[in-house]
Amino acid sequence: MKKINKSEGSASARTLENLKEIEPRLKVGVLVLNTGHGLYIGGINYGIESDLPHARAILNAMDGQSTCAQISQNSGAGLDDVLEIVRALDNAGLVDTVRTSIRVQRFHSPNPNRSTHKNDDSNDGGFQQLQSKLAPELSASTWISGVRDGGVNVIAQRRNWEVSIFGEGRIATLLYGILLASGISETLLIPAKNSTAISAESLTSGFLRQSDIGLNLKVRSSELAGELSLFPANSSDAREKFAISIGQPQADQQQEWMSSGTPHLVIEPAECASLFIGPLVIPGITPCLRCVRLIRHEREILWDEIELNRLTHAPSEVPVSVAHYVAGLITLELLSYIDREKSQLLGACLTIDFHNLATTDRTLYTRHLACGCNWGQEKSPR
Ligand SMILES: [Zn+2]
Repeated sequence: MKKINKSEGSASARTLENLKEIEPRLKVGVLVLNTGHGLYIGGINYGIESDLPHARAILNAMDGQSTCAQISQNSGAGLDDVLEIVRALDNAGLVDTVRTSIRVQRFHSPNPNRSTHKNDDSNDGGFQQLQSKLAPELSASTWISGVRDGGVNVIAQRRNWEVSIFGEGRIATLLYGILLASGISETLLIPAKNSTAISAESLTSGFLRQSDIGLNLKVRSSELAGELSLFPANSSDAREKFAISIGQPQADQQQEWMSSGTPHLVIEPAECASLFIGPLVIPGITPCLRCVRLIRHEREILWDEIELNRLTHAPSEVPVSVAHYVAGLITLELLSYIDREKSQLLGACLTIDFHNLATTDRTLYTRHLACGCNWGQEKSPR
């Protein structure tokens, strides 16, 4: 048995405790293909090859409810062969070996199955809807390096975050709906003015309808939260906070995020069919918005003029297609940060060219010595 084309950064070699007692199952989407002289087991980019005679029978018996000893019994393969293949699959990050449940508060029932995402036998429509909405999220989270529970815990942890979107417009409203549907149950949409109404311009094939025009944006989006959210409302108070600003934030708002240690991300207004995003700022740890401004001032000869121009020109709305693209991109980067503490936007900014999306420009930034955003800060990453 050999490992082939294993991509860097995926599951590293692990030691399984009490290997015989675990109940392994292949991760969602793992391919099992005949190679002519054995089996290829893996994803598109990497996997393992096995020439064990009972390999397919072993894989078929890996139902997530049978121990390795039972798999050996059910498949007719020797226990050593089962352990060998499970160990190789685990080292390659291709198998789940832990079961985790998501507890939701909506299902008040003495039956414990009704408060988990699996083993439900209640014919509860809401529960089944939750399961079907969870499956696509899990199909991605299970492939995160080091995940062994099908990605369940990663998705469940998203409920511990409160994400505030400051601003309005197409990107803001789409982002609001996508984040809720991705499991960030506590997503808040905070327009610049409480009185901001929904306009025809806001309709983007998203969750707002023609009949919503003229209604208060903040109130209406809040009303729709239950319909959009992946999970039922979560009453947990222990939330980590994140802020997203559509357009430049007010100076006092920015200062508040910095002093409270709130990670934040700014999406600048569209200009000349392009959009500048980032960086994702972890106060005191990564380059802040002021660092970027100081560096752009030094690097870009027209930067000061551009900033002045922005003060006197109202931002323009983006095309529907761009709004969906940017909202999806921001959500994926934010979830990457929440799920894995990683993001391509940490210390970096993206310039999105509406007519050339395949070559999005990513510029790296460092902390500027004159900024002082790290002075007196000793906070370490979470
Ligand atoms: Zn700074």
